[in-house]
Amino acid sequence: METVDTIVIGAGVVGLAIARELAMAGREVIMLEAADGIGTETSSRNSEVIHAGIYYDPGSVKAAMCVAGKRLLYDFCRSHGVPHVNCGKLIVATTNEQIAQLEKIHAQAAANGVNDLRAIPARAAMAMEAALHCVAALHSPSTGIIDSHAFMLALLGDAEAHGAMLVCKSPVLAGAITDAGIELSINGADPMRIRAQAVVNAAGLHAQSLAGRISGFPSAQVPPTHYCKGNYYTLIGRSPFSRLIYPVPEAAGLGVHVTIDLAGQARFGPDVEWIDAIDYRVDPRRADSFYAAIRTYWPDLKDGALQPGYAGIRPKLQPQGAPGRDFVISVPGDHGVRGLVNLFGIESPGLTAALAIARYVRAMLHVS
Ligand SMILES: Cc1cc2nc3c(=O)[nH]c(=O)nc-3n(C[C@H](O)[C@H](O)[C@H](O)COP(=O)(O)OP(=O)(O)OC[C@H]3O[C@@H](n4cnc5c(N)ncnc54)[C@H](O)[C@@H]3O)c2cc1C
Repeated sequence: METVDTIVIGAGVVGLAIARELAMAGREVIMLEAADGIGTETSSRNSEVIHAGIYYDPGSVKAAMCVAGKRLLYDFCRSHGVPHVNCGKLIVATTNEQIAQLEKIHAQAAANGVNDLRAIPARAAMAMEAALHCVAALHSPSTGIIDSHAFMLALLGDAEAHGAMLVCKSPVLAGAITDAGIELSINGADPMRIRAQAVVNAAGLHAQSLAGRISGFPSAQVPPTHYCKGNYYTLIGRSPFSRLIYPVPEAAGLGVHVTIDLAGQARFGPDVEWIDAIDYRVDPRRADSFYAAIRTYWPDLKDGALQPGYAGIRPKLQPQGAPGRDFVISVPGDHGVRGLVNLFGIESPGLTAALAIARYVRAMLHVS
């Protein structure tokens, strides 16, 4: 059987960041990716926002990783020439009842170490964005947007420059924990078995099902998966905004917000649709509910201005209606299996947090 020091399963943004981190620390790393290229699942189906770290529960892994990851990400973008814009964002209350929610968000951000958030009066917000309607706002100057694919290519470039190898079309079917290491069976053109001293399961939406197929790994350590789709609708014509505009959050999502991509295209969403199976189709009829939500902060939105965009799926750990759960980065110190790391529930802000998650995983695998 072939042996290798470390295998990272999944070449989304999180797997790539971890592979890079471990390769740069001198580990021999192979990345196994089921698809025929990097980042074809959640990592290319998101809002491409560099989040400031505002919304997450203080003390949570999400909050810590987002705030640390944001700093690392801006530095990385600058040093690697990854296209990004630190455009800032406005979180807006559109009714007086929502102002208390803004105050809560402000306090939560401060508890997370996000100290640059400013409460601004409605007229100042509307002066910044002429198309906007609101009664109060928070301005987050450290929020930005990023070309997520360029980011992933730069991560891959660094990883490969440090000896890591990407093998696509190689779905990991199952694994077994043995005294000699963790054995994986891999499908693809050349099905094979391979043994590694360390395995990082960064399989995103499939991380739990894969962990459940690693014999010897306690099933009690595998949380359930719940899929929560987010649909986007793009605006026909020019974006009326130059910053990101977010209403106050709703259950399981951040509200129908507007983000812009680096080409200046405005997109609205993602909404919240709990689903049983992976399905990326966007139902044009769901746009109907977007119009009313968007007009609360952009009254001039014209009928028929939205067209179906794309969808991403959040790998939630909780079912619909249950309180939100934190990222689970399950390391040997948690479950007792040497060399195994499972990443569960890496929904937003996983893109922002990827570099910080990678550092944490390296530390937990005792790679110095
Ligand atoms: C709608 C939406 C909007 C979001 N917006 C933002 C945002 O604006 N900012 C932000 O910071 N975060 C955002 N996120 C979160 C972010 O996109 C994710 O946290 C991040 O992309 C997760 O990356 P990943 O590498 O864990 O997973 P993925 O990108 O899903 O990668 C997993 C990889 O594993 C591979 N794989 C699966 N099973 C196997 C197997 N058995 N063998 C081999 N390979 C396998 C898959 O093919 C895939 O390439 C958003 C998420 C969603 C759903």
